[in-house]
Amino acid sequence: RRSSSAQRASTIATGRPHLMVVVNASKLVLASEDPELQRIISSADLVTADGMSVVWGARLLGARLPGRVTGIDTMEKLVARAADRAWRVFFLGAKQEALDGAISVLKARHPSLVVAGSRNGYFAGRENEIIAMVREAKPHLLFVAMGSPAQERFLSANLEAMAVPFSLGVGGSFDHVAGISRRAPVWMQRIGMEWLYRFASEPR
Ligand code: UDP
Repeated sequence: RRSSSAQRASTIATGRPHLMVVVNASKLVLASEDPELQRIISSADLVTADGMSVVWGARLLGARLPGRVTGIDTMEKLVARAADRAWRVFFLGAKQEALDGAISVLKARHPSLVVAGSRNGYFAGRENEIIAMVREAKPHLLFVAMGSPAQERFLSANLEAMAVPFSLGVGGSFDHVAGISRRAPVWMQRIGMEWLYRFASEPR
């Protein structure tokens, strides 16, 4: 789905919670055997193809997606916009070192960025505490980096309770931004071959 800049801004302005899900091949394979994950994806407010295999697959099925839209690229662009518009951002997930590293990289890049709060992604059994923490921080944007499908399940189940206007699961993005694990070189990303880099470095 395409939307104008005004529509994007009103996503935030309405205050109503919205969920964006990025879909790659591995998430589709999981969803093919998991009706709950299928429901989460199809009820999301915005779904994009996070990988060339999904762009190609969609083309085979007759949907000419203009290209892929990854979680990490979306997060980086929205963080820039948040810094511009004084939108508050909450970062949830990853190990403490990656979380702190990612936030300091993003704050260095955008000194006016307002970090509403942050919490590492290891909190089994303490979900209610985390939900209350997010809610009380009143962020406009919430990025959850806990891997799939855990992050999508967490977001979908707690969207209303956290009451954040825009939420997105971003997988291993905090590790990438912190420089703890590397993305493919930019030239490989441009020609749509990041999947090959990832396949070579993380066969699972
Ligand atoms: N993670 C987490 N809590 C957990 C398990 C994992 O916060 O209980 C984090 C982990 O530290 C890493 C991310 O989730 O930063 C998973 O990254 P991965 O690249 O595996 O996710 P994918 O993009 O494949 O969904």
